Formats: sequence, C-alpha cells, structure tokens
Amino acid sequence: MIFKCTNCGGNAVYSPDKKMMVCPYCGGEDTYKRKDNENSSYGLSVCPECGGTIPVEEFDSAMHCPYCDNSVIFNERISNEYHPKFIIPFELSKDKTKDLIRDKFKKLTFAPSDFLSEVRLDSMKGVYVPFWFYDYKTNAVFEGEGTKVRHWTSGNYRYTETSYYHVVRDMNIPFEKLPADASIKMPDQVMDLMEPYDYSKLSEFMPEYLSGFNAERYNMPAEDIESRARSKMEDDAKAILRSSISGYSSLVTNSQSVRVLDRKTAYGLMPVWNYVYQYKGQDYPFYVNGETGKIIGTAPLSKGKVWGYTATLFVLLEIIAASINGILGLM
Ligand SMILES: [Zn+2]
Ligand SMILES: [Zn+2]
Repeated sequence: MIFKCTNCGGNAVYSPDKKMMVCPYCGGEDTYKRKDNENSSYGLSVCPECGGTIPVEEFDSAMHCPYCDNSVIFNERISNEYHPKFIIPFELSKDKTKDLIRDKFKKLTFAPSDFLSEVRLDSMKGVYVPFWFYDYKTNAVFEGEGTKVRHWTSGNYRYTETSYYHVVRDMNIPFEKLPADASIKMPDQVMDLMEPYDYSKLSEFMPEYLSGFNAERYNMPAEDIESRARSKMEDDAKAILRSSISGYSSLVTNSQSVRVLDRKTAYGLMPVWNYVYQYKGQDYPFYVNGETGKIIGTAPLSKGKVWGYTATLFVLLEIIAASINGILGLM
C-alpha cells in the first residue's frame, strides 16, 4: 500500500514533528487515502503507484520505491502473524536527528571533515526494527548464611560476638516487556545499548506510521531469541534479591533460583535512525534511538588529524566517551 494526498496526489508520510500524516508537496495535513495494489497477484514487489518492480529482501516490510520514490508498505508483511501489536512511532524527525548528531560531535575535531556534512548526514535512514517483548511472572528465592559481628570491651577483656543467620528471601517478581530485537541486520549488542525506550509512547500499530520509513518484519520467532531476554531477567531478579538483604557483616550464597511461573510474548516495532559513514573503505555505522535520541556508534578517526592533535587527544577521547554512550568495536 501507499498513502496518497487527497489534495495533490503526492505521497503522504508520517511526520514525527506534527504527529500526523502530512504531504511534503502541498503541506496537506491528514489529507490522505490508502492505495493498494489493484491486482494482488502482482505479489509483494510491485509498486502500487508506478508499477515498477521493487527489489524486496526477505524481511523488508516497508521501503521507498527506487523508481518513483514513494514509500511503499508491503501488506502481507504487516498482517496476520506479522501484524505488530504495538509500535513506538518516530519522535525525532530526520532534521532533529541531524542536529542532535552535529551537536554531540561538533567538538570531535579529529574526525574527517565531512563527517557532519549535510550530504553525508542526509543519507541516514529511519528504520522500524522488529522486537519481541517478553513478560515474565517469576518466583525468585535466595538462601544463604549471614553473619553479624559485635565487639565490646569489659574490664581487661575484649569480646567479639559473631551471630549466624539463615537468610532466606522468597519473592514474586514480575517483569514487563523485556526487549530483544528480532532483526539479523541489527547488531544485538548495539540494540541492547539503545535501551531504555520510553514505553509511555507505545501506540497501537497502524500502517500509517511506516509511511516515509523503512521497516522489517520479525526475522525469527520469539523462541529463537528468548535466551537474551531471559538472561536480562535472571540478572535483574538476582540483583533485586540481593538488594533486599542488608545489615550483615558477611553473606554467603548457598543457593539462588529464578523460576518462571508465567510468560507472554508480544511483537512490536521500535524506531531507529541509521547513519552509515564511509571513510577510507570502511563503514562506520551510527544508530540513534528514534524516540530518545541515544546515539551508539564508533567514531571515525582521521589518522592525519589524530597526529595533529596528540596533545589534546585524551581530553577529546573523554568527550567522545561521554557523547556516544560507549564506543563499540564495530571496525
Ligand atoms: Zn499534497
Ligand atoms: Zn514506484
């Protein structure tokens, strides 16, 4: 399907700034109608506007037609088992994301000079990344030995009293919407660093949100990537147990267990801006959380410039570390 402006026939797209469908050609707001492929036997890859054959990859659910540039959404990949339960719509427009990147990296004086150029930044793409969300009801149990030590002096004697305690914690801990991305293209480590998302912006899915962006359907079923959500859940449950125990001089763990009583999964789409900077034959991908603006990526270093700035390199490195929330070894 595509969304067409009812005023001028242009391609209506979702505007993160206005939070509605707009026509970039005539400025029409919320003036649109949906146009589907008239002949559904055309299959997935025929543009409903120009009839061109779009080179669709296995998981693509929305992309721009390479011939007419309309934003095309592939019905079959957002319906039935691929219908997302919810979506966080893009909060940050492309322009705002460019400003954000410029602002964060303006002090990066040893980056190649065109790193922040308009042409380069304009190549960034907004992508809805498929995620599985896991809800767990758990029972977490800690069992161990704690000691409390007391010292005092009486007459010529110093006394030490050690009391031993059997420490037990038995808690029911619920977890809601632990995310794991279901896209092969997106590096897991980066997607984990994109967290947290603000779930107050979760919306019921509508295909309109995809207009103007790229999107994928989930690449694998929820079961295949559940171990990622489970290990986050188990780490958190253990941390919650431990933080509920205090006041002991020492604590030894005898056993610790996290049992899942109930589990649910849901499928949703999350917004990510993807900027790939090419430098000396290498790709430096940057990912920006399209809701919160958190940036993850590896800074490109121009060797000539690094040498020119040796004296201030350490200061600059600190600025990068503070700016990009962790430098990943993506090189
Ligand atoms: Zn229009
Ligand atoms: Zn087309």
